[in-house]
Amino acid sequence: MTNILFAAGPSRWESWAPPLRAALDRAGLDHTLSREMAPELVDYIVYAPDSELQDFTPFTRCKAVLNIWAGVEAIVGNPTLTPPLARMVGGGLTEGMVEYVLGHALRHHLGMDAHIVNPGHRWHWAPPPLASERRVTVLGLGALGAEVARKLADVGFRVTGWSRRPKQIAGVHTLNGADGLDKALRGAEILVLLLPDTPATGNILNKEALALLAEGAFVINPGRGPLIDDDALLAALDSGQVAHATLDVFRQEPLPQDHPFWGHPRVTVTPHVASETRATKGAEVIAENILRGDAGQPLLHLVDRAAGY
Ligand code: NDP
Repeated sequence: MTNILFAAGPSRWESWAPPLRAALDRAGLDHTLSREMAPELVDYIVYAPDSELQDFTPFTRCKAVLNIWAGVEAIVGNPTLTPPLARMVGGGLTEGMVEYVLGHALRHHLGMDAHIVNPGHRWHWAPPPLASERRVTVLGLGALGAEVARKLADVGFRVTGWSRRPKQIAGVHTLNGADGLDKALRGAEILVLLLPDTPATGNILNKEALALLAEGAFVINPGRGPLIDDDALLAALDSGQVAHATLDVFRQEPLPQDHPFWGHPRVTVTPHVASETRATKGAEVIAENILRGDAGQPLLHLVDRAAGY
């Protein structure tokens, strides 16, 4: 019998329990799945950082903590967490993120706002460039960033991607390292942030980085709030260096009502909806990892605790 504790925020139990049970049954796993369990009996914890569970010390036989979110910044530094930590890859996250970024990139690329809200019925004839004339940079080429970069390239954009380690992605010019970051930012007309929140990525989009972008660039951030120096971005919006920022994630969520991003004419705020793990698909990923753990095979999607993602 494999004992699985579900310790994500309370609202998730109803949507996750049935598909998780079904996926575990399909995997042929004799299991107990519950929101309450004596800690010393727990084999796996299905987790999200919005859980009340923050002290992992009593879970003495836990083989792994399986995060149902992609981002792990709120748990990766927890000193009581000694078992392996896996994060969510798949589970519908990639498709959702591709759709979000493509939608917002095309909105800016095509200048859709001018036509959707046009109270003066202005006949301003200004055809947009083709995607092949538009330089897009994606910072972060992981599970999400790599697929986003690939799909942007499929549309025809001139895509540059940047990651910590060297990568090869068909149709994408890839760079890495500090020198690579400067090159990736220089002249970018649309910038997409898909980096994790780690000590190495904080404020990566600061005043100096913003100055490297093409004048009138668009910034799309579905990564994490701390990637951006908010004051530097506001200054760049005011000067016209950045024409518009579409922001899904913030240092504080929900974004406080008095934050200048709300109501800024050149900022679009979306409420952390870029992509969400779909329970039915995510349950398959969790079940597969539990099956692997029980069979003594290496777990998928393990977090590098030292790197922080
Ligand atoms: P991955 O861990 O798969 O990818 C992270 C990427 O960032 C990798 O390419 C990695 O490089 C790169 N990276 C990390 N640190 C550095 C660094 N210091 N310098 C350069 N590159 C770096 O994550 P995912 O693609 O799955 O997710 C990315 C982020 O998206 C998540 O951490 C989360 O914050 C956010 N997210 C947001 C959602 C939303 O709804 N808004 C939903 C889901 C995720 P390398 O490849 O070399 O390791």
